[in-house]
Amino acid sequence: MTHVKRKRDAENPKGGMRRVVVIGLDCVPPRLAFDLFARDMPHLHELMARGTWGPMHSTIPPITVPAWACMFSGRDPGELGVYGFQTRKGGSYRAELVRPSDLRAERVWHELAAVGRKPAVLFVPPSFPPEAFGIQVGCFLTPSSRSPHTYPPRLQAELEQRFGPYRMDVEDFRSDDLDRIGAELREMTCQHFDIASHILAHEQPDLLVMVDIGPDRFHHAFYQHIEPRHPQYQEDGPYARAGHDYYALLDHKIGQLLAHTGDDTTVIVASDHGARPLLGGVCLNEWLIEHGYLRLREYPKRVTPLSELAIDWSRTRAFGEGGYCGRIQLNLAGREPQGIVPEHAREALVVELAQGLSELDHPHGKRLRNLIVPPSAYRGTYGRPPDLQVFFDDLNYRALGSVGHRCLFTATNDRGPDGCNHDWHGIFVMAGGGVPARGRVDDLQIYDVAKTLRSLLQLPGYEDLLGSDRSL
Ligand SMILES: [Zn+2]
Repeated sequence: MTHVKRKRDAENPKGGMRRVVVIGLDCVPPRLAFDLFARDMPHLHELMARGTWGPMHSTIPPITVPAWACMFSGRDPGELGVYGFQTRKGGSYRAELVRPSDLRAERVWHELAAVGRKPAVLFVPPSFPPEAFGIQVGCFLTPSSRSPHTYPPRLQAELEQRFGPYRMDVEDFRSDDLDRIGAELREMTCQHFDIASHILAHEQPDLLVMVDIGPDRFHHAFYQHIEPRHPQYQEDGPYARAGHDYYALLDHKIGQLLAHTGDDTTVIVASDHGARPLLGGVCLNEWLIEHGYLRLREYPKRVTPLSELAIDWSRTRAFGEGGYCGRIQLNLAGREPQGIVPEHAREALVVELAQGLSELDHPHGKRLRNLIVPPSAYRGTYGRPPDLQVFFDDLNYRALGSVGHRCLFTATNDRGPDGCNHDWHGIFVMAGGGVPARGRVDDLQIYDVAKTLRSLLQLPGYEDLLGSDRSL
């Protein structure tokens, strides 16, 4: 059945087919796009008025690289074997940046290309190095504008000539230099949308997917200035207009892109996760040291990242990696280079750590809702899943991997000033190309996007994919 359908599509790649454009806005919370800045986003709200929209639940964890990969594959992080920006490989305590080839399942554009149709995949994490099909431009993990980051390779010079050197990300976005960050952000967002509009107009892809990392960087830098629910928000603060201005820019660029779409085009605007005010940090490795799980040969004199600590591996049973959530790794014998925890003791140690972390409360007496997630939460556990993930106070606190704080709680991130942490819900808006208008829907899942795209593009739907087809 599958074979027959693919053959038919390949013979008739365009006849009567819908085009699909996916505008990915990294880290947009429903409250900001749907309510707080609604008046700044007329194009988005026009799509909502004639389509289906709502808050969309992200992956566990709600982190950029696994979230986008899961959105377009319909597989969970365990099935893909990718749990964050980095992936851990055997024989080393170090982690490496995720590359497209690390993912264990195809995304929808692979299958589209396989039946002779044309996808354009622009800035979608992870997409460096670019894969050799359709049209590709590498994501924010592209090392520099000079790194080969497009397919076909000739496209790189063409885009640079037209739009200037590629802005894959904003430099040092966790800093106090908000005027510089704001200016760079606007230029990057404009460039990304302008490239997408150009590709859409000149290459006529069957599917165009673009992701702008701009909103994520904007929220990390500006959240305390734009979200009245942030404890540090000041109504008359110097950046009180910044949220309106940036969301208006996003909407303006969405409008320009939509001008290149017709009645045959279904447009989806989607976010990989949302954002919420960051209330502080929990020093995960300080806690492991305090409870005797992590042993150092020497406690550092200043705040030091995990990779630079003098760890006594011969007496260390667990260590943690920081980020939006905490990731605990056991120093497992036979898996880690100097592992000491025998396999038979693994489960009991995981239970003990989960118990201890779930009871970790703020010293000011605040009860924290720490969510602990074991690898069994996934349908598969390929690659190297963390032995435990912990979401401190749901996601109100980040996990800090560094040591030297001499305390368990800090007021901010150990990687520079930070206004927000990631949150479970991003946005989803879909309209056009004949899809029904269902209005607001409240049970959207990130996995729905893959199934919906397959349906819209008439690709075979696999029964074991997660999510629901929202185009019905
Ligand atoms: Zn993200």
